[in-house]
Amino acid sequence: MKIAILSRNKKLYSTRRLIEAATERGHEVAVLDVLRCYMNITSMRPSIHFRGEDMVGFDAVIPRIGASVTFYGTAVLRQFEMIGVYPVNESVAISRSRDKLRSLQLLARKGIGLPVTGFAHSPDDVDDLIKMVGGAPLVIKLLEGTQGIGVVLAETQKAAESVIEAFMGLKANILVQEYIREAGGADIRCFIIGDKVVASMKRQAQAGEFRSNLHRGGSASLIKITPEERSTAVRAARSMGLNVAGVDLLRSNHGPVVMEVNSSPGLQGIESASGKDVAGMIIEFIERSARPHRTQTRGKG
Ligand code: ADP
Ligand code: MG
Repeated sequence: MKIAILSRNKKLYSTRRLIEAATERGHEVAVLDVLRCYMNITSMRPSIHFRGEDMVGFDAVIPRIGASVTFYGTAVLRQFEMIGVYPVNESVAISRSRDKLRSLQLLARKGIGLPVTGFAHSPDDVDDLIKMVGGAPLVIKLLEGTQGIGVVLAETQKAAESVIEAFMGLKANILVQEYIREAGGADIRCFIIGDKVVASMKRQAQAGEFRSNLHRGGSASLIKITPEERSTAVRAARSMGLNVAGVDLLRSNHGPVVMEVNSSPGLQGIESASGKDVAGMIIEFIERSARPHRTQTRGKG
């Protein structure tokens, strides 16, 4: 097969591993910087160009679209879908998962466990919003943050009010969430391929920090997840429409709660914690699933 990887940098661990895994299995791989893809969107013959060449003949595309280029990246991916290239994750599913509020609403609709979460526009509603999620301590998040940046723990009512008002004053979209203290600064990353959790790891925040992101100094270790956690993670990815996803869970007193669903989960942490060839499993998934024009949301995105 001929596989395109949409990635801005060939040297990133995840990209390198995907190239390796695909070539080992006899596939041809091209890494395309999504910001250097340009498109002709005429209805008769839509096309994608890269450095002067028409990108034809691809069987599958693996999107590794960074949070900062979601808008343009999903447009390029949509164009691949229009010309019938099989996307490992669809553009629509990626857009859904990138918006924390939208994705929590989709998860709630499916009855999936979530931390109590509130959202408001007007500073006049802040008091009641804080009450609604059970008061301080609480977590405040920028809707489009990533890698733990834009996630704040407000220990007291006063701190919560001033942080929320400050964000609102900056016109930043935020959500306010129950703080799951019993998680003890740890979360569980479940790596999903198709409808299975193929690997999982526990991430523990460093001392004095509640955010377990590896980018924030968290450390990863192997963990055995419960059947309930496994099914929660699978349902979360499915409700987003993602084939490959990193579902992050917290262990709360009321069972597993989903914090977020990542559409481009990194491979380095999970491969080293689990010792598994996750990149190889993604390529095998493509071998099983890729068919021309096999995109569920064609025309609707
Ligand atoms: P990001 O997209 O920036 O990674 P997350 O929503 O995943 O944002 O939050 C970052 C980290 O903060 C999580 O991995 C988790 O350790 C911690 N965290 C987030 N929300 C909560 C919460 N409601 N209760 C306890 N810890 C939380
Ligand atoms: Mg996260």
